[in-house]
Amino acid sequence: MANPNFAVRFWGVRGSIACPGVETARYGGNTSCVEMRCGDHTLVFDGGSGLRRLGEALVARPGGTDVDLFYSHTHLDHVIGLPFFAPCYDRKSQIRIWAGHLKPERGIEEVLDTMMSAPLFPIPLAIFTARLSFLDFVAGESLVPHPGIEVRTGPLNHPNRATGYRVEYAGKVVAYITDTEHKPGKRDENVLHLVDRADLMIYDCTYTDREYRAHHDWGHSTWQEGVRLAEAANVGRLVIFHHDPDHDDNFMDRIAAAAEKRRPGTIVAKEGLVLRP
Ligand SMILES: [Zn+2]
Ligand SMILES: [Zn+2]
Repeated sequence: MANPNFAVRFWGVRGSIACPGVETARYGGNTSCVEMRCGDHTLVFDGGSGLRRLGEALVARPGGTDVDLFYSHTHLDHVIGLPFFAPCYDRKSQIRIWAGHLKPERGIEEVLDTMMSAPLFPIPLAIFTARLSFLDFVAGESLVPHPGIEVRTGPLNHPNRATGYRVEYAGKVVAYITDTEHKPGKRDENVLHLVDRADLMIYDCTYTDREYRAHHDWGHSTWQEGVRLAEAANVGRLVIFHHDPDHDDNFMDRIAAAAEKRRPGTIVAKEGLVLRP
């Protein structure tokens, strides 16, 4: 049975670069941003361009915003939304920013500060008035952002590193696994560990298996590998995520139909979609 207190909402489902336009209007053109509501707590996974509209929704809710923002990594498609995240400019907001791929050489505050520096961006990170904390960890650690919410983490296979997440709350499990590349014919043990018997597995499905042949070492996976992983790990529902910006709505419809045939119940993430694990 679905848990009414645990909800997953998609604010951005694309990878690489935002791709707004009539041909992507149904699935959405914003880059990675997923909100998980665990009771009264809000966890956010990645802050791509989809983070802007989540911010508008958060400041419209009564009371100050209190969020934990977990980055998979800091490629631009996952961080570009932060300067446009309204709670950053609200003194009443409390924002804890987590990242597991930068230690020991760097830290998340330094990297975001670099993104928001002239002449790339006109205002610095220091302009934010919210109460911010920057929490670097090492992928593989388990985190407890709030009592009753367990967040397990693990390293993914991606250029400059990335972190996968497994959120356990109220007896349900949601895994957020992007960006990562598989090795053909071999399941990634780190990923299997994170997605084991998850109710929902949100997975980097940038390519089809056919397209992947021309994209080795680009750091991304395929929806067919998502299905193979879901089966190997007894996952409830696979959620196809991090869509290639070249995949328009008609292409995504074809993936949805093929995935439904291959593993019934598989979901293709769309902007605005809400799932209950
Ligand atoms: Zn990405
Ligand atoms: Zn990336």
